Amino acid sequence: MTNTEARATAIVCGAGMAGLLSARVLADFYDRVVIVERDELTDEPAPRKGVPQGNYLHTLLVGGQRMQPRHAGVGGAPAGAEAAQRAGARRASDRRARHLGVRLGRPLDRARRPCPTDGRRRATVLPGDVVVDATGRTSAGPTWLRTIGYRVPEEDTVNGFWGYACRNYRMPGDWAPDWAGMLTVPTGRNGDTRGAGWTRQEHNRWLVTLIGCAKDYPPRDEPGFTDWLTALPQPDFAEPLAGATPLDDIVVWRQTGNRLRRYDRLERRPANLLFTGDSVCALNPVYAQGMSVACLGARELREALSEGDDDLAGRFQRRFADALRFSWAASTAADHAVPGAEGDPPDVEEAELGRRWQQAALLTIDDPEAMRLFWETLCLVRGPDWLYTGPIAERVAR
Ligand SMILES: Cc1cc2nc3c(=O)[nH]c(=O)nc-3n(C[C@H](O)[C@H](O)[C@H](O)COP(=O)(O)OP(=O)(O)OC[C@H]3O[C@@H](n4cnc5c(N)ncnc54)[C@H](O)[C@@H]3O)c2cc1C
Repeated sequence: MTNTEARATAIVCGAGMAGLLSARVLADFYDRVVIVERDELTDEPAPRKGVPQGNYLHTLLVGGQRMQPRHAGVGGAPAGAEAAQRAGARRASDRRARHLGVRLGRPLDRARRPCPTDGRRRATVLPGDVVVDATGRTSAGPTWLRTIGYRVPEEDTVNGFWGYACRNYRMPGDWAPDWAGMLTVPTGRNGDTRGAGWTRQEHNRWLVTLIGCAKDYPPRDEPGFTDWLTALPQPDFAEPLAGATPLDDIVVWRQTGNRLRRYDRLERRPANLLFTGDSVCALNPVYAQGMSVACLGARELREALSEGDDDLAGRFQRRFADALRFSWAASTAADHAVPGAEGDPPDVEEAELGRRWQQAALLTIDDPEAMRLFWETLCLVRGPDWLYTGPIAERVAR
């Protein structure tokens, strides 16, 4: 494709956060956007097989909320059919077909017919001018590249061996705390390996989360779950459990390693095959950056498309890599500091950013200005420039 007039069909693999946001952006540049999703999507927000993390605590940072493309229709959790439909999608009529057919018009309300699907077969060849892989942490992107004769991207990993255990509870009708959530996250240092959270969900449902690091994994059994909360130094986390009724089984999650695929560094690549979201950068979820990184991807996709079509994939991957640099450096610096962490050492720039970030975290204890800057940066509403210039920079450089 050499000019914008030829922008006919875009294909997005994966209807998670990154896929839906990408589809919304692509709809402003392509006549037709097809989302390929292997899950059957329901009309209501609900956990589904393809996004197993949907059962666990999720916080969408303010920065991520602000970055969402207008009308993206994606809320604060991995999204389903409702969000896809709010983005202009219509479900393909044949349930045996595994792709969600969409027409996202320009403008949105102009053309919303499902794309044709082949009801007899589960695989259909879809011609497209650009393909975006948003299939998440399990993405087979490197295999795709190898299969069509390209080199696979380098991969950096850092693992602090974190784990989650979660359970939903119903609270008594007269229980009305003056908070909507509380969270304590361990640092891993000096034996501080355990944390927990309570977060209010819909319909008076409360999600209780245990968080552990350095291979101190939260348990799946009920007595162990209660003991974990009771043993925390803050009694606030165990107390409400006395009146709580469990609504489901305890679920556990241990796939928390950080992984960055360096698609931006490929010397040769297919011109119009792009990778976004967790398929590029899957982070330790405890730092709550992943969905906002998906939003960064959508923002950079819009910028790359606005610049034209030449080297679209290369330009997008380099932009996305720059945009997510802070989230990667901050998450991996924190995880490198966890005793027993394993992984690739950071490059010089990343190491310096990570070191300054860790220093800044210490300043937040008694410096309100450092606290403000730290949180604004963590929530992606400002960049980390203050770590390098300005009054605090000198203190974090030591
Ligand atoms: C326990 C846990 C807690 C988390 N907490 C937070 C948090 O608090 N804040 C935060 O910002 N992030 C959090 N995250 C990270 C966040 O969930 C991810 O970063 C985000 O959902 C990534 O979105 P994605 O669209 O890239 O991938 P996914 O949400 O994983 O979506 C991938 C989609 O692709 C589909 N798919 C996969 N393979 C195929 C295929 N071959 N063909 C067709 N479709 C396919 C899947 O069914 C799925 O719909 C957490 C993650 C975990 C595991």
